[in-house]
Amino acid sequence: MRFGSVEFFKVLIKTVLAIVFFLPLVLCIVFGVLLANTNKSLADAEQKREEAERNLERISLAAEILVGKYAGTIDDFYEIYKQSGNSDDELIDYLREINGYEDDKAHEPEPPVTTPPVTVPAPASETSAPVTSAPEETAEPTEESPYIGIHEDMAVTPVSAENMVREQGTVYLTFDDGPSQNTYTVLSLLRKYDVKATFFVVPSRTDECYALLRAIVNEGHSIGVHSATHDYEKIYASVEAFLDDFYEAWDIVYEATGVKTPLFRFPGGSVNDFNGDTRDAIIEEMTRRGFRYYDWNVDSNDAGGATWSEMYNSIPSDIAQNYRSVVLMHDSAPRENTVYVLEDILKVLVGENYKLDKISDNTMPVQFIGPYA
Ligand SMILES: [Zn+2]
Repeated sequence: MRFGSVEFFKVLIKTVLAIVFFLPLVLCIVFGVLLANTNKSLADAEQKREEAERNLERISLAAEILVGKYAGTIDDFYEIYKQSGNSDDELIDYLREINGYEDDKAHEPEPPVTTPPVTVPAPASETSAPVTSAPEETAEPTEESPYIGIHEDMAVTPVSAENMVREQGTVYLTFDDGPSQNTYTVLSLLRKYDVKATFFVVPSRTDECYALLRAIVNEGHSIGVHSATHDYEKIYASVEAFLDDFYEAWDIVYEATGVKTPLFRFPGGSVNDFNGDTRDAIIEEMTRRGFRYYDWNVDSNDAGGATWSEMYNSIPSDIAQNYRSVVLMHDSAPRENTVYVLEDILKVLVGENYKLDKISDNTMPVQFIGPYA
């Protein structure tokens, strides 16, 4: 094909036509596909944004149910909370917003008590059994403990005996074996009556449990360790077994809330059928590490299956017998009677002007036997 020949011009015209007609077509298709893709990702992004917004609305609604700002049952709360994808940090944020928390204080451990608070001396006429003599000094680690090296970080600053307070007429409501779905209801009721309480927890490493532990602390209540397994035979088999179990629960509480709690309650109480051989050694080691255990002097008997009326009749009258009262209740899942009776009990106690308080780092323990009994 010679340059300038007829053949040459035919090819040239075909080429020009091809460029003029086909190139725009190809470009149209390419841009069309690109545009469609962009629209699709825009639509996807929009959908994701809407979903995230809906989740935040769900979380905020769930938080409002918890604090009674929005009518709903605890089942409604769980349904909505589940739909939101369990973003418990957002739930906590909303709870704090609703509750008016200004900063992150609730997440920080309380500083150890350094100044001696005013102690109320016990009246001679005290009828309640648990506290009758001054406690001994907190044990100093003078002798080498055989358990040094086991979870060494599991220790707290001990509060010395003279800094302990023991207030007459104070009622310490305590809830064991939770958290569970009942915990939020308990928290809502305590909030409604502006009452602080203490939770001896059996925690697990789940998001839901972490959210509940944070809710307890954010609501201003005390948290103490009960157990990780609550398996009597296992935890009381040896001091080491007890320390292992305790460490797991204590560490979860710390991880979830930032609180290194010095408070604990023995599963089954400090005197039970399983710890006869190990009890003294466990107490000695736990005391060495700065921990204090709290038994009770009023038993709601909810774990024993007490009915609403049994609890309603016994708890206030038992409290009336005591110089001060530590009341054993449970916020674990099967203890629904506790949830039913709690509001009525709160009405009675608040109406009778008891001081309802949480156990603090410097609250003198109520113990079945031992130095403080
Ligand atoms: Zn228990």
